[in-house]
Amino acid sequence: MDLYEHQGKELFARAGIPVSEGRVATTPEEARAATEELGGPVVVKAQVLVGGRGKAGGIRLANTPEEAEAHAAAILGMDIRGHVVRRLWIEKASDIAREYYLSVTFDRGEKTPLFMFTTQGGIDIEEVAETNPEALVRLHVDPLEGFQPWQARRLVYGAGIDDPGEQKQVAAIVEKLYGAFVGFDAMLCEVNPLIVTPDGEVKALDSKFTVDDNALYRHPDVAEMRDVEAADPRERLAREKGVTYVKLDGEIGILGNGAGLVMATLDVIDQVGGRPANFCDLGGGGDAQGVVDALEVITSDEQVEAILFNIFGGITRCDEVARGILAALGQMAIEDPIVVRLDGTNAEEGRRLLTEAAPANVYVEETMLSAAEKVVSLK
Ligand code: GDP
Ligand code: MN
Repeated sequence: MDLYEHQGKELFARAGIPVSEGRVATTPEEARAATEELGGPVVVKAQVLVGGRGKAGGIRLANTPEEAEAHAAAILGMDIRGHVVRRLWIEKASDIAREYYLSVTFDRGEKTPLFMFTTQGGIDIEEVAETNPEALVRLHVDPLEGFQPWQARRLVYGAGIDDPGEQKQVAAIVEKLYGAFVGFDAMLCEVNPLIVTPDGEVKALDSKFTVDDNALYRHPDVAEMRDVEAADPRERLAREKGVTYVKLDGEIGILGNGAGLVMATLDVIDQVGGRPANFCDLGGGGDAQGVVDALEVITSDEQVEAILFNIFGGITRCDEVARGILAALGQMAIEDPIVVRLDGTNAEEGRRLLTEAAPANVYVEETMLSAAEKVVSLK
């Protein structure tokens, strides 16, 4: 789950990382009031789950409450690379002497957390990695040993910071960022820019914070930060119904039982020249309600032209799933062709049930490949 900048900063603050004071605003009037409360110049910042807001015009300095109100009116409703701005973060403006970059994320290859730090902050880190790779200091942390203070010093010296006060502050922030990363079960904690003010104060001016969905049960307060309105409407519907669904951009709706089987189905559809519209895992059951829920989500995508059920009966028997499909199709009208591949426990009985009772737009196949070819030919 990705957090908004202001939410990430709240977690930074809880971990002891210095951030600027600010307020959330959802209207120009609130932005004005927030600026009056904060006093002095502020930055009006679009809160969207995508980077590069500055370049898109979603971050503006305001010297007065009137100016903040005007900027807020301009930024609210703005579309930043497909994300519509519906909330703002009004923050006390900082004076910036230097902009650094600091992050900790997982290095999947090494299977350990990886710090990256450079004094070339503020711009895209990919650009630094490409044009100036020696300026980017990388350091792995052994998750069993945990973070060691020398690691912070290595990052700081490696990046060439020579001011002692700055060294101390950055090192402390590095250690606290690791604490936040582990403590909140994060996948990514990125600070770009980490700034140094003209007075030599170091603080986080931006935050990109991604928390592992699977660990949210341990952090109910973080789970509550999810902005349900920002999600893709189909993925939101799926979440509400407890359906495991990921939107893709093809025309063949896919439904299977078991994540591995569904992944294989996506490959086979591609192999026979089709394009999957989604990933959808029915899970262990195959009862009518589960099938109805999944079909509702899949068919809410206007791009879907044909649907493939790929079922391998194990503990859940094929005849049960066939009854679930029949009951579901009895409850809802679907015009798109539906191909059902049933194999495994009680497959023959399942196929017989479907062949005898299913509506005319339902086709039964025995193998994954033949089912994939059939559904692609029907779209
Ligand atoms: P991003 O563009 O989405 O990464 O948003 P950031 O929060 O990183 O802001 C982009 C840029 O706006 C920063 O790199 C700064 O140069 C500038 N900026 C943001 N906040 C302030 C501030 O308080 N004072 C000043 N002077 N510039 C700021
Ligand atoms: Mn940034």
